[in-house]
Amino acid sequence: MTDVTPGPRPVDETDLPVVDFHPYRWGDPSHFVTLSERITGALGLVGITTSERPPTPLGELVPPDTGLTAELLDSLREAVGDGSVSTEHDDRTAHANGWSTPDLLRLRGNALVDAPDAVVRPADEAGVESVLRWCGEQRVAVVPFGGGTSVVGGLTAERDGFTGVIALDLAALDRLLDVDAESRILTFEAGTRGPRAEELAAEHGFTIGHFPQSYAGATIGGYAAARSAGQSSAGYGRFDEMVVGLTLVTPRGTIEIGNAPRSAAGPDWRQIVLGSEGAFGVITRVRVRVRPLPETRVFEGWRFADFAAGAAALRRLAQDGPRPTVLRLSDEIETLVNLADPNESLEENPGGCLAIVGFEGTAADVAARREAVTTILRDLGGEELGTAPGEAWREGRFNAPYLRDPLLENGVLIETLETATFWSRLTEVRDAVNTALTTALGDQGTPCIPMCHISHVYETGASLYFTVAAAQAEDPVAQWAVAKTAVNETLLRIGAAPSHHHGIGVDHQGVYTEQLGTLAVEALQAIKQTLDPSGVVNPGILLPRAGH
Ligand SMILES: Cc1cc2nc3c(=O)[nH]c(=O)nc-3n(C[C@H](O)[C@H](O)[C@H](O)COP(=O)(O)OP(=O)(O)OC[C@H]3O[C@@H](n4cnc5c(N)ncnc54)[C@H](O)[C@@H]3O)c2cc1C
Repeated sequence: MTDVTPGPRPVDETDLPVVDFHPYRWGDPSHFVTLSERITGALGLVGITTSERPPTPLGELVPPDTGLTAELLDSLREAVGDGSVSTEHDDRTAHANGWSTPDLLRLRGNALVDAPDAVVRPADEAGVESVLRWCGEQRVAVVPFGGGTSVVGGLTAERDGFTGVIALDLAALDRLLDVDAESRILTFEAGTRGPRAEELAAEHGFTIGHFPQSYAGATIGGYAAARSAGQSSAGYGRFDEMVVGLTLVTPRGTIEIGNAPRSAAGPDWRQIVLGSEGAFGVITRVRVRVRPLPETRVFEGWRFADFAAGAAALRRLAQDGPRPTVLRLSDEIETLVNLADPNESLEENPGGCLAIVGFEGTAADVAARREAVTTILRDLGGEELGTAPGEAWREGRFNAPYLRDPLLENGVLIETLETATFWSRLTEVRDAVNTALTTALGDQGTPCIPMCHISHVYETGASLYFTVAAAQAEDPVAQWAVAKTAVNETLLRIGAAPSHHHGIGVDHQGVYTEQLGTLAVEALQAIKQTLDPSGVVNPGILLPRAGH
């Protein structure tokens, strides 16, 4: 390992500790929150009243008995070597689902039908290799488990036709294996969680610059497997753009990918593994391009008269530069609900759309980009709100998921979804998704607030991220399924991406496979068949099972 002198380490939100999550309450238990009057007031304005929906206490969440015999469990223990195999209720419950709202509602309502039969924690890559071999031989389905933050059903593999299902938890693979400071490449084991990876990078003067909202829980391998995008993607890029190389362990052997920054050696295997969501095997190592830790960071707020004006300003910066590090725009409703100034009452809120514009880098680079961006945004009708809204956003950027738990406990259905499209179709897609949500939920007698923001920008287009809140119906899982189906059908009809960064899992499989077409799906299934002939790795995730 080539070491370098550590650079400055800014003390900020990247110092989040790595903590164990509660099975159905997000994040660090010391940060759990209750509903503020501002939130209940905003919900009340659109007719969403709150009512108590207490969750099933943890101790009462009991998964079905493990389906693996004592003999099979013994041979699994032998295969995993130095790692561990657990059939404890709590462990299996914590690996039963991801973190979509339906996942949480099912757990909270004690509908634990699909907990894995065992949780296996290999100590290293060799352990992963032998567990996958064992699964292939024994026809036991295996779910690669990073941080478990999937919001698309990526952890609920099909059990049908298998001897059992195990969760392969990669938590022990959390080391920084190599530092190539000259090339600015770090090699991480796949189970390294976001804050730990950032801490390890900082010890060498670098930042990965990848800050998804799930940062506290998600892992390097999960970022690659699900093509994650972080909140600073305008400056640092999406995670798939940062990946220089990967190691993929399959039931048939191991594949090493990426030995140069770019290559003309045929199709790029990185692109086959990125976004494969465990369907082709387990990513055990990721080589990531990193950048020097920023000397300076400045975040500011801008107000635009409406969403169209704000979107035009973001497009101008995304296409012609200079690019801020963070660039996002809330629509009118999201701006109203979040309030640009937390001291303003709802009545005082001047409306419009809030953009967050952030800069990170050297002092000179930040000053130059900020000055140029200020001139452009002023010319395009933006109103400068100063650094207060920007810094408030930066400080609270990982807090929103904490709010979901008290909302669910107070009878509010709250969920997010996202897509991407070209600039020329942005308004059409936003309107179509909003209509699908309001119609599908309104038809069930539950008025909703659909909020939207532009979360990631590109030269040719952007991603649209929707948050929707409604009163919970008697069966909120069924209620949301109707809305989600309506949105999926809309995305299929209008030809927008099934997902920009959450991935496919099972929730988006219909739109994904319809858009790809039979030939392309069969080609992907053929790759899976070659790497995983028994079909044991994440069956039914990403791709439908051939012949099922
Ligand atoms: C509150 C919240 C906020 C979120 N915000 C964002 C966001 O801002 N940006 C964003 O991109 N996503 C976001 N997500 C979604 C999620 O965090 C990402 O998809 C993330 O990349 C998943 O990482 P993970 O380690 O938790 O993976 P997991 O959830 O454990 O796994 C995701 C999928 O990949 C597979 N998998 C996991 N690790 C591996 C591996 N090493 N090899 C092969 N397959 C593997 C799993 O089987 C599963 O199918 C959010 C989720 C939540 C709950």
